Amino acid sequence: MKTSVIGFPRVGTLRELKFATEKFFRGEINEDELKLTSGKIRKNQWLLQSSKGIDYIASNDFSFYDNLLDTAVLFNIIPERYVNLDVSPMWRYFAMARGYQGEAGDVKALAMKKWFNTNYHYIVPEIEDDTQIKLAGSKPFDEYEEAKAAGVKTKPVIAGPFTLLKLLKYTGSKKCDDYVDELINAYKSYVSEFEKLGAEWIQFDEPFLVHDLTNDDVALFEKIYKELLKCKGSIKVLLQTYFGDIRDCYENVVKLDFDGIGLDFIEGRKTIELVEKYGFPNDKVLFAGLVNGKNIWKNNYKKTLETVYGLKNAGINVVIGTSCSLLHVPYTLENESRLSEDYIKHLSFAVEKLTELSQLKNLADNKNPASEKAYNDNIELFSIKRVNSFNDKVKKRVADIKESDFVRLPAFNEREKIQKAEFGFPMFPTTTIGSFPQTADVKANRSAYKKNEIPKEEYVDFNKKKIAEWVKIQEDLDIDVLVHGEFERNDMVEYFGEQLDGYVFTEKAWVQSYGTRCVKPPVIWGDVSRNHPMTVDWSVYAQSLTDRPMKGMLTGPVTILNWSFPREDVSIKESTYQIALAIRDEVLDLEKAGISVIQVDEAALREKLPLRKTDWYSQYLDWAIPSFRLVHSGVKAETQIHTHMCYSEFTDIITAIDDMDADVITFEASRSDLQILDSLKENNFKTEVGPGVYDIHSPRVPSTDEIKSALKKMLEKIDADKLWVNPDCGLKTRGEKETLASLYNLVKAAKELREEY
Ligand code: GLN
Ligand code: ZN
Repeated sequence: MKTSVIGFPRVGTLRELKFATEKFFRGEINEDELKLTSGKIRKNQWLLQSSKGIDYIASNDFSFYDNLLDTAVLFNIIPERYVNLDVSPMWRYFAMARGYQGEAGDVKALAMKKWFNTNYHYIVPEIEDDTQIKLAGSKPFDEYEEAKAAGVKTKPVIAGPFTLLKLLKYTGSKKCDDYVDELINAYKSYVSEFEKLGAEWIQFDEPFLVHDLTNDDVALFEKIYKELLKCKGSIKVLLQTYFGDIRDCYENVVKLDFDGIGLDFIEGRKTIELVEKYGFPNDKVLFAGLVNGKNIWKNNYKKTLETVYGLKNAGINVVIGTSCSLLHVPYTLENESRLSEDYIKHLSFAVEKLTELSQLKNLADNKNPASEKAYNDNIELFSIKRVNSFNDKVKKRVADIKESDFVRLPAFNEREKIQKAEFGFPMFPTTTIGSFPQTADVKANRSAYKKNEIPKEEYVDFNKKKIAEWVKIQEDLDIDVLVHGEFERNDMVEYFGEQLDGYVFTEKAWVQSYGTRCVKPPVIWGDVSRNHPMTVDWSVYAQSLTDRPMKGMLTGPVTILNWSFPREDVSIKESTYQIALAIRDEVLDLEKAGISVIQVDEAALREKLPLRKTDWYSQYLDWAIPSFRLVHSGVKAETQIHTHMCYSEFTDIITAIDDMDADVITFEASRSDLQILDSLKENNFKTEVGPGVYDIHSPRVPSTDEIKSALKKMLEKIDADKLWVNPDCGLKTRGEKETLASLYNLVKAAKELREEY
C-alpha cells in the first residue's frame, strides 16, 4: 500500500510565509530574503512528509499568493496592463494578486473568488485576445529540483488545463475554444520538461470535473487529454479530482490514458457507487481520497479500511490519500497547549493526517489489523461519548421551532416605509461594513489581554478609546450609519465561537483564506447555545457617543457554521439552527438596549452552496435561508436589519437572497463586473442594496470620480431610494491612512451625487 498527499499547507508551521511576505510588501526585507524563508518552509514540509513515510509527496503546491495565478503566469497568461508595469517579475506577480500603486503605475488587482466550496480564495486569471499561451516560467521545475536536492523525489502538481480553461476570465472576443490548442501545447512542454528532469509522476488537478457537466464540457475534457496524453512517454500522469464525485464523466475519464485517477471518497457522495457500477481499470492506480482534507476530526480507521479492502478485493490497485489538498486544515496540533487531551484526541490537523495516512497504510497491509494498537485505539475513540458535547435543552429548543418563527412581520414594504420615516437618512446613505484597521496597537492590546498580561479594565479602556476615536472620525467624515469598529474581535466567527457554549477554540490553528490572510476557524464541538450577551456592551457604549445610528454587528448562523469546523455526528442543519437561536437572542438583546440598526453578516452564505445545482435547495438553501430569518424575525418594524456578503455572485440564487428578508444588504461589487445589477432589476429585488464601491482587498485609494461613476452605473439599474454607499467589505486589513482617504472620497462622492439628484 502507498500513500499520497494532494497538497500541503504552505504558510508554514506558525505562518512564517505570511509574516515574511508582509515584511516584503512593507519593504522591510528584500526578494532574496523572502525567497530564503519560502525555501525553508518548502524543505521543511517535504522532509516532514517523507519522514512520515508518505510515498507521493507534492511539489509546486507552494505559492507566494495563489496556485491558479501561478499556473496562469507559468503559461504567460498575463494581462497587458501588468506586462506594461515596469517592475520585477515578483512585483508584477503581486500586482496581479493585490494591485499596485507606486512609481511604476497604478493598476487594480485581478478578481478573487472562492475556490469551489471552500473558504480559500483564488485569483481569477484574465486572458486577452492577443495573449500567447506558452510555457514561460520555471517555478514547478525549480521546486522539483529543490526537493530532489533535499533528498525527496516529488510528484509535481498543477491545475489541469480543463479547470484552468473553465476558471479563466475571457476579456476579449476570443472564447475558451479558441485557446484549447495553444494551451494543450503549453501543457505538453510542461510534461516533457518533467520527463527530462526524470519525474516519475505528475499530478493534474481537475476539480472542475465535480460540477454538473454538459456534454460539451465532457467532450472538451476528452479532447484535451486525448491530445495531451499522447506526449507523456515514460512519465506517469495522475488525474486528481476533489470536492465531490465525477458522476458526469466517470466512464469517459477511466477510458483515457491516465496512469492514476484520484477520486474523493469523502465529499463524493457517489464515488463508491461509480467505481462499483462501472469498474476501475486494473492498469491504472486509484488514488482514493479517504482522509478528509477539509475537516479536523480523526479518521475512522475501521470505516476507511472497509473501503480500502472493498477496492482491493475488486482487484483495484489502490493508493490511500487525502480527499483534497491539506491547505484547508491547520498545520499541526503540536502548538495547541490549551486544549486538554479529552479534546485533542479526537482531532487531526495536517501533520497528524500524515500519521493517519501512514498508520492506515500499515494497517491496510496487515492481514490482521485488530492485532495493532493504532487500530484498537482508533476503535475505542469512536466508541466513547465526547465530553461536554450534548445539551438536551438546546435540542428541545430546536425541536420546538414553529413555522411562524421564520417570518418577520410586518412585511418588507411596510417596514421600509416605517424605517424611512423613522431614520430620515439622506439619499444614498453612507456606511461601512463593520471593522476598522486592526493596527498593531489594537492587536497588541488584545493579545496582552488574552495572555493575561493586562487586566480586563485596561483592555476595555483601550478599546473604548479606539471606539471613541473612530466615532469621532466617522462623524467628521459625515458617515450616516456608524460602526464601532470591531477592535475586540480577532475574527468575525472566532469571536462568537469563543463566547458560545458548545465551541472549542484553538490557538495556532490557522488556515489560509487568501494571500497572506489566514483565519482560525473554531471547532463546533457540541450543542451550541449562548449563556450571556456577546456584543451588547460594546455597541451600547459606542451608541452613547453619538446621535447617529450605531450598527450592532453580528455574524449570522450560516457563516458561523461555514467558517467553523463542523461536527460530523449531527447534521449541519441542526447545528445551524442551534446557532441561529443563539444569535436571535443576541439580536433581541441589542434591540432592547436601544440599538436600532443591526447587521448580521452572512459573508459565507454562498460558499457552501453545493457545487451541483441540483443539490442547491434540497441540500442547502432550504434550511440556510430559514435559519437567517429565524435570527431576525423577532424584531420590531422600526429596527433595521442589515446583512453583508463578501461576494456578488448571487445572480443565480437571487430570490433566495431576497427571501432572507433583510432590510438592507451590502456586498462586494467593485472587483467583479456589475452583472449582478441587471439581475437585481430583472428580479425586482426588494431589499435595499449597497454594492461595494471600492475594493478593500487592496491598499489602493479610489478617487471620488471613480466612486461616483460606479454609483452612476449602479443607478442605471437600482432605484435611487434603495441605494446605499459603502466599501466592499470590512476595513480591518487596511492601514489607517488609506482608509481615511478612501472613506473621505466615498462620502464626497455620495454628497456630490445627492446634489445631482
Ligand atoms: N463585519 C465584518 C467586518 O467588517 C465583515 C467581514 C466580512 O464580511 N468578511 O470585518
Ligand atoms: Zn465581506
